[in-house]
Amino acid sequence: MSFRRKIVAGNWKMNNSLSEALNLIDGILSNLDTRTTAEIIVCPAYTFIGPIINHLKDFNRIKLGAQNCSEHVSGAYTGEVSAQMLKSIECDYVIIGHSERRIYFNETNTQLKEKIKRALENGLAPIFCVGEKMEERKNRTHFNLVRDQIKNVLSSFKAKELEKLIIAYEPVWAIGTGVTATSAEAQEMHVFIRQIISELFDQEFARELPILYGGSCNPQNAKELFSCDDVDGGLIGGASLKANDFCSIIQSF
Ligand code: PEP
Repeated sequence: MSFRRKIVAGNWKMNNSLSEALNLIDGILSNLDTRTTAEIIVCPAYTFIGPIINHLKDFNRIKLGAQNCSEHVSGAYTGEVSAQMLKSIECDYVIIGHSERRIYFNETNTQLKEKIKRALENGLAPIFCVGEKMEERKNRTHFNLVRDQIKNVLSSFKAKELEKLIIAYEPVWAIGTGVTATSAEAQEMHVFIRQIISELFDQEFARELPILYGGSCNPQNAKELFSCDDVDGGLIGGASLKANDFCSIIQSF
């Protein structure tokens, strides 16, 4: 287990009605061991962020994140939600560059860089997702791919600007498939990511940076994954929709 911050973030994707979302939060509240030291984040659809924040009232152990934000500041971008809007409702985190957004919505590195800028300008912590497809792992280009994903988006920032950054390594072949990276595969990539960050910025910044694993993480495999030195927690999809499973993942450090 690492000395860094421990973080478990739930990515609810496009699931739940408002009442189901509030029930899920209630389920998490009643199953949560409040002695846990992990930072807990839930990322519901935009529409539910405000109601969940109101529902949680002063209970601040669960933080809210969005699953995306616009690369634009404001204006005529019908259907978009800005980082400033998210901050104005006390949302604290935002997932940027999830593989589903890269693949289904063709998000480019240039857009992702702008999204991270908007998030940081508004005091949101970006959870920046990187990860390879299976064919890239099979032909051994996965390290180069992840290096490019990081360099092309982060190299124009200064370490000081990225204090709130969290990286999530999410191999695309593990997302929603039930196939998880082995702890050795996760650890190997997390060390590599830390190395890239150290080369781009400095060792100190790389040492402190939280790097989460995502991809079919569940109560059965979380302990082993989280026990890796460079795995600082998880970005959880499917298992974050079940209060029991999500809480037992949170308790897996
Ligand atoms: C995700 O989509 O970020 C994710 C990790 O999904 P799952 O846990 O369902 O693989």
